[in-house]
Amino acid sequence: MKRTSKNQDCLGPYFEALHSAWGPQHWWPARTPFEVIVGAYLTQNTSWKNVEMALAHLRRAGLLSLRGIRDVSLTRLEAAIRPAGYFRQKAARLKMFVAFVDQRYHGSLERMFGQPTQRLRQELLALNGVGPETADSILLYAGQHPVFVVDAYTRRILERHGIAAASLPYEEVQSLCESGLAATPHTAPGRSNHPTAHRPSPMSRAQRSPLAQIYNDMHGLIVNVGKHYCLKSKPQCEQCPLQKFLPRVRA
Ligand code: SF4
Repeated sequence: MKRTSKNQDCLGPYFEALHSAWGPQHWWPARTPFEVIVGAYLTQNTSWKNVEMALAHLRRAGLLSLRGIRDVSLTRLEAAIRPAGYFRQKAARLKMFVAFVDQRYHGSLERMFGQPTQRLRQELLALNGVGPETADSILLYAGQHPVFVVDAYTRRILERHGIAAASLPYEEVQSLCESGLAATPHTAPGRSNHPTAHRPSPMSRAQRSPLAQIYNDMHGLIVNVGKHYCLKSKPQCEQCPLQKFLPRVRA
């Protein structure tokens, strides 16, 4: 399956169809950039419900800050994030992230996010436990950098619509999505019509460029499509707002 400019161009209409059906999704549900980062680490290989429990423990214990994670013992951190699974590995990785910010950016997330996007992306990717999806989630949702987050739902939808093969490398899918959404007109924030959209939060309301806003909303909308309609075994195309874009099967 090849990428074509026609394929890329269709992503703008996908965004418009989803956004007009469901409105903004208010990602990411967090109060601070650091909370987004911790959530991006914790959400690996577990459900968001479990992440919320771990975040609540951290918040109650006053650990949801660079300083909190820096000063707490590894054992206490492991116990606090236990509900998120792989807690030993994740606790060690959170400690490593804080050490990275301390060493490279004198403990300042603001300074870190002030770096050019691609340079910071490479630095994040060099950290233990940070793959492209986590790095891009941190860049987009904590730092407001305009990068598109590709996840398994994005890949499934693009493959089922004949836009990109499942085996296409991450960065190629990302660049296809970014160029497909580049000309999309910015939609004003409105009311969400989807029952599982997040509630507005300080981070969902943060200042960002129009392009970062589109990437922010599009990823949230895609997650809803993947969770509720584009199911792995049995897609529910009849109810899906993207049904009109399905390629016609020739008889
Ligand atoms: S559920 Fe059907 S229409 Fe919706 S994205 Fe998946 S394949 Fe497309």
